[in-house]
Amino acid sequence: MAFRFDRPTHWSFKAGQFVDITLVNPSETDSEGNVRGFSLASAPDEETLLLATRMRDTAFKRSLAAALPETEFKIEGPFGDFSLHHETRRPAVMIAGGIGITSFRSMVLGATHRKLKHRIVLFYFNRRLEDAPFLEELQLLESRNPYYRLIAVMIQPERSRRGWGGETGHLSEAMLKSYLNDLDSPIYYVAGPAPMVEGIREVLNSAGIDKDDVRTEEFAGY
Ligand SMILES: Cc1cc2nc3c(=O)[nH]c(=O)nc-3n(C[C@H](O)[C@H](O)[C@H](O)COP(=O)(O)OP(=O)(O)OC[C@H]3O[C@@H](n4cnc5c(N)ncnc54)[C@H](O)[C@@H]3O)c2cc1C
Repeated sequence: MAFRFDRPTHWSFKAGQFVDITLVNPSETDSEGNVRGFSLASAPDEETLLLATRMRDTAFKRSLAAALPETEFKIEGPFGDFSLHHETRRPAVMIAGGIGITSFRSMVLGATHRKLKHRIVLFYFNRRLEDAPFLEELQLLESRNPYYRLIAVMIQPERSRRGWGGETGHLSEAMLKSYLNDLDSPIYYVAGPAPMVEGIREVLNSAGIDKDDVRTEEFAGY
């Protein structure tokens, strides 16, 4: 589910950063409290702030889902340094697991709006097509940004009711090599639930990629 918020005046952020959202006077709460961190899925120059989350049956998310247009939230931030490097000579390889796509929607859209010349290759992993937020929009962006390429990957396409003719399986060195000219020049960005980020980090490590070239954002809490 995605949520759009009015953007506070005189407030800006860098694509890829996150905010803490606090429910103000929620009708219910639980032991995990009223605050969660969310990456901003909107680009910095969009008029509203966009968050997207996997809905689960927690007090926080029930309250979020029940919010009405005038409901107030406290927004703290922006936080974090998970944002695109400056040097355009080095490509950006972005690897998203499921909801980890939020940071990358912001980065790819931001780079497209600003006409940045970074080569961007986005690997987007999901179990099935039905689980892949923003997929269509990310596909369409390829026609607006000549430096950007999307590789959507389904891990369990056989569990989908819809056909899938694209890439399948888990990330591997062979998969990286089939889409990248070389593995050494890019800066790698990985975002998603912590176990997924850890798994990808291991693949990158055993492919010989320098740890200094790997930046991660773990969506702790999943
Ligand atoms: C920097 C950062 C950026 C983030 N960005 C995003 C984002 O863009 N989008 C996003 O969705 N999340 C993001 N998160 C994670 C987010 O903050 C929440 O932790 C997450 O959405 C889970 O919240 P919850 O209310 O569903 O579960 P919580 O109530 O926080 O769950 C607490 C624990 O209970 C367990 N649990 C609760 N419900 C279930 C369930 N149904 N099944 C299994 N176990 C369960 C889990 O073990 C979980 O660790 C980010 C986190 C960080 C740190």
